[in-house]
Amino acid sequence: MRTDVLIIGGGATGAGIARDLALRGVNCLLLEMGDFCHGASGGNHGLLHSGGRYAVKDPTSASECALENAVLRSIAPFCIEDTGGLFVSLPEDDPSFADTFVGSCRKANVPFEELTAKEALRSEPELSSRVTRCLKVNDGSIDPFSLVQANVDDARSAGAKVLNHCAVTGMTVENGTVVEVEVRDRRGGIPASIVPEIVVNAAGAWVDEVAKLAGCRVPMGLDQGSMLVMDGRHCRYVVNRLRSPSNGDIIVPNHTSTILGTTSRPAGAPNDVTVSREDVDLLVRETAAMMPSLRERRTIRTYGGVRPLLGGGGRGASRSFAMLNDERVGNLISVAGGKLTTYRLMAEKVSDRVCEMLGSSSNCRTHKEALGPPANGKGDSISAVRLVRKYGRSASSVDTTDARVVCSCEQVLRSEVTAVLKAGDALTLADVMRRTRAGMGYCQGFDCALSVLEIMMEQNGIDPVPSLNEFLGERERGLEHTSGDQLRQEMLRRHVLNGVYGLGVRE
Ligand SMILES: Cc1cc2nc3c(=O)[nH]c(=O)nc-3n(C[C@H](O)[C@H](O)[C@H](O)COP(=O)(O)OP(=O)(O)OC[C@H]3O[C@@H](n4cnc5c(N)ncnc54)[C@H](O)[C@@H]3O)c2cc1C
Repeated sequence: MRTDVLIIGGGATGAGIARDLALRGVNCLLLEMGDFCHGASGGNHGLLHSGGRYAVKDPTSASECALENAVLRSIAPFCIEDTGGLFVSLPEDDPSFADTFVGSCRKANVPFEELTAKEALRSEPELSSRVTRCLKVNDGSIDPFSLVQANVDDARSAGAKVLNHCAVTGMTVENGTVVEVEVRDRRGGIPASIVPEIVVNAAGAWVDEVAKLAGCRVPMGLDQGSMLVMDGRHCRYVVNRLRSPSNGDIIVPNHTSTILGTTSRPAGAPNDVTVSREDVDLLVRETAAMMPSLRERRTIRTYGGVRPLLGGGGRGASRSFAMLNDERVGNLISVAGGKLTTYRLMAEKVSDRVCEMLGSSSNCRTHKEALGPPANGKGDSISAVRLVRKYGRSASSVDTTDARVVCSCEQVLRSEVTAVLKAGDALTLADVMRRTRAGMGYCQGFDCALSVLEIMMEQNGIDPVPSLNEFLGERERGLEHTSGDQLRQEMLRRHVLNGVYGLGVRE
């Protein structure tokens, strides 16, 4: 199979590149080894950065975030909640940092407004009464799953071929050019080898591993971060600590929950997402200093992600991005670093380079063309609001005739599961979950996993046990550090799934 451009990696960057190139009329194929958002795009806080977090230490990244924040709000409002953000200092924080922050935001063009401590408490009543200073910024909450899916849908509508569950496993290089790429396809449907003109390596934390297939290197610092999901929404704003970026600085309201993050430690491998007990304790302790009520809330899940960082790793590393072209292999472009917030800009720069190499003069359109519907659908009905938020442009085509609720925590209808299965990308229970949010709520799939599985068996004739075990294994990792009410609920789940159904859930 021949393609002008082969894109490796179906996170935000790869999906953004596929959309950008397809809109410019370039023939391209995107391959993702897992499901879309299998990497860092599914393992982050979902914070649409205002740029404030990076203003002091990383002004380039701060300006990129500020610009892209505005672009994403205009092209993809369906997956963004305009929560706004607060940066708050506590008495133990260096008071001069707040002044430096103000000056740096001005320089990097990050909009902000100062609130008095009283105004801050009025806006966000759960904040600590110890807050000494508060700056309001344009942070938001963004749903990475619907953002990436919308890029994939748009890329396909513009002519790109996009396949998940297809891994690139090898490359043949002749005379400094990748001439053939080997593929392992879990879905069936594409040949085992691809002949590309240009290869774009957007493999995130795996960028070096993919480069090695062509005999090149893209040395990156791999850095793991942990996050906690708390039941319910406990703040209106994204709340950040007004200090030099550190661990446990961020609280993000997200759909039905609140996400606490994050930490930073060297990762041993791209999939080293393990969350330790110490991370859990640290995140609760540090975020509760800003919002004391978090100490009493229930942690429903933990998860982690791995950042590929330029110039080593750690808090000091830049959050900007780089495009790397190893001169030993002229048609391989690697891209790494950046943020979810800046994925579109990264995609634009890579696509410009690809077009230059192909001799095409088409210009980028992704900053102007809406990804999903503007605000239409909002307010039509309560279920329309929910569907637009989840499915973007394709919300209106979701058949809601079978309105039986499959997942009570997230109000997912049977019709939604059916529609996702018909669309063809969802092979596993976890794939259905990422698209519908079934299993992402309070009970973490206790109730809905079996119902979704039944629909998958009816519709796709799948073997239920491997799929359920894969789903439960993934959920289990996130439930390892639960305690209190969540632990009691977890024990009930294990009793039912292991005792009643004998499905191999760990006791
Ligand atoms: C802990 C943490 C918190 C973060 N919080 C935020 C935040 O709140 N806001 C923000 O803006 N940014 C945040 N980020 C950064 C953001 O998540 C990343 O910058 C962004 O998601 C990177 O997207 P990507 O597409 O480049 O990489 P990824 O999402 O990692 O995608 C790379 C993809 O390549 C695929 N792949 C790898 N090898 C192969 C192969 N051989 N064949 C086929 N496919 C392959 C992988 O499966 C993966 O899906 C955070 C990151 C971390 C780790």
